[in-house]
Amino acid sequence: MTFWHAQQRAHEAGGKLVLRIEDVERDRCRKEFADAISEDLRWFGLDWDEGPDIGGPFVPYIQSERRRYYLEALEKLRVDGFVYPCKCSRKDVIQASLAPHDENEEAIYPGTCRPRGSVIEAAAHHAEAVGRRMRAATGRDLQATRLPPQILLGATAEVVAAAVSAAELEELPPGTAAVTTPTEVPGGTHWRFRVPDGEQVEFLDGRLGKQSAVAGRDFGDFIVWRRDDIPAYQLAVVVDDAAMQVSEVVRGEDLLMSTFRQLLLYRALGLRPPKFYHAPLVLDKSGKRLAKRHGALSLRALRERRSTPEELRSLNPL
Ligand SMILES: [Zn+2]
Repeated sequence: MTFWHAQQRAHEAGGKLVLRIEDVERDRCRKEFADAISEDLRWFGLDWDEGPDIGGPFVPYIQSERRRYYLEALEKLRVDGFVYPCKCSRKDVIQASLAPHDENEEAIYPGTCRPRGSVIEAAAHHAEAVGRRMRAATGRDLQATRLPPQILLGATAEVVAAAVSAAELEELPPGTAAVTTPTEVPGGTHWRFRVPDGEQVEFLDGRLGKQSAVAGRDFGDFIVWRRDDIPAYQLAVVVDDAAMQVSEVVRGEDLLMSTFRQLLLYRALGLRPPKFYHAPLVLDKSGKRLAKRHGALSLRALRERRSTPEELRSLNPL
């Protein structure tokens, strides 16, 4: 349904719609999974301009095949001191922190593994690195203006969710995806992004208007690379949306808080953020909200419950 919103937004803006398979935090993806997702979306009556099944200028469109880009981004963040290693388990974090305000949100990291250093030092470092990145980005922008104008939209939540159910169908033996993996492996520890405590992060949402959150209060230091050597969703989508020149991201409003984190990542990486449009959460036949974070719902599941596209459309009007 989120993808449906995206399609509508793309049409209205005269833009292009991109389908990207977000399987990076899941078990390894296979072509069949991508096919299943595409098939479900087509069943719903959707169509896109770029994607794993039809290609496009920014292949590959499957995140599990884009690892090298995420590694590059992690390396930049590491060199500039935006991330630090963290050994805490999920349980450690939950025990040591206050419960999040929102049930969809992760607990706020208590800072156990944060490098000591003075706050002023860290802030100065932040500012300097950001300045360097901004200058680099400005150079890129000048080049970009020579390209023909193009509007792209990315839709995520639905696609991610579909990937979950697909991944459950069949598991690949571990290590299968290692063929495309570069030699450097940052695993063995989490890598956490250090948020600028107290800074108010803002953006203008295409549906909800002005949104703001305070770093360190509404959300804490977050994981960008997991210790099982998997890039986190936050990092992967930022890298991809920038690389694929996505001009507007359309996704479920359960991911609103993630957008603040991602805005900090864009800045740290010297990338220009897209616009954001957070769509209402999807309702099923019984009027229950289905989407939870970027999981839980899949069109496949709805199909199996004998929902029809017409039914789903009327329950979830644009
Ligand atoms: Zn830690």
